[in-house]
Amino acid sequence: MVAEVINGKDLSMELKSEMKKEVHDLRNKNVVPHLTVVLVGNNPASESYVNGKKRASEEVGISSEIIKLEDTVTEKELLKVIDRLNRNDKVHGILVQLPLPNHIHVQHIIEFIDPKKDVDGFHPYNIGKMMTGQDTFLPCTPYGILTMLRSKNITIEGKHAVIIGRSNIVGKPVGQLLLNENATVTYCHSKTKNLKEITRLADILVVAVGKPNVIDKHYVKDGVIVIDVGINRLDDGSLTGDVDFDSCLEKASYITPVPRGVGPMTITMLLHNTIKAAKGMVQ
Ligand code: NDP
Repeated sequence: MVAEVINGKDLSMELKSEMKKEVHDLRNKNVVPHLTVVLVGNNPASESYVNGKKRASEEVGISSEIIKLEDTVTEKELLKVIDRLNRNDKVHGILVQLPLPNHIHVQHIIEFIDPKKDVDGFHPYNIGKMMTGQDTFLPCTPYGILTMLRSKNITIEGKHAVIIGRSNIVGKPVGQLLLNENATVTYCHSKTKNLKEITRLADILVVAVGKPNVIDKHYVKDGVIVIDVGINRLDDGSLTGDVDFDSCLEKASYITPVPRGVGPMTITMLLHNTIKAAKGMVQ
């Protein structure tokens, strides 16, 4: 079997062209969807992510701004900036780019963002809504993965989904979203024993570890659907995922590449959430 590749770049272009029309309609009703991204410090990776988000917003007509703060900014000062954005009716989405400097308590910041503007879907209120199956902002990477599966009409119900990684932004929520879709979910992490025995049972394998080539064909069964979330930069500057793509390609039924896989979908779902916020759909 040779897997069908789920190209996140192509799917995100299709979705963005639909979003363009939605934004156009909103603008005709004098609603200009607006996303504010707050960037603390000058981590080059964060800067590049933030610029990518701004570019993608502009592509679909969402107005966006980046507020850049020095890495010496205090937690109190950052909270003040968020307070101002929370109270500004013209700002529909607020995103604070992570990671933050160590002297700032990330959870304090996330919990201070108005849940109605939490387009990252990281606020505990929105996480609770997601866990109880209510309509809300879904975290962008997990939502992007779900959208990729749906785009291929892949049945999730009844499948065994194995998730490697249990971070709050990827691993945990993607498992929850698949559970909401009636998958049977198993989580694995760095303390999991016999990883290979578990991954070989997966119908859907989501890999969100952050290490190149942790999964190859020996870890998967025939026909598996492999979603590679990892983004790893190699010494030569190129990007690679967590999965040995070529090795798994011959056993999987579907597989996502890196680059042009989950990455572009993450930004696209951020745009989706911003439009949803502008429509006032999350209360
Ligand atoms: P974290 O570092 O927060 O989590 C990594 C997880 O992998 C942890 O749960 C850890 O276990 C687990 N892990 C580490 N080593 C192993 C191992 N050998 N076997 C099994 N599990 C292991 O990372 P994130 O979730 O934030 O990100 C994961 C990857 O996805 C990164 O490469 C990141 O860059 C990428 N990413 C990509 C996005 C995209 O848009 N495509 C968006 C966000 C992230 P433990 O909990 O026990 O430590």
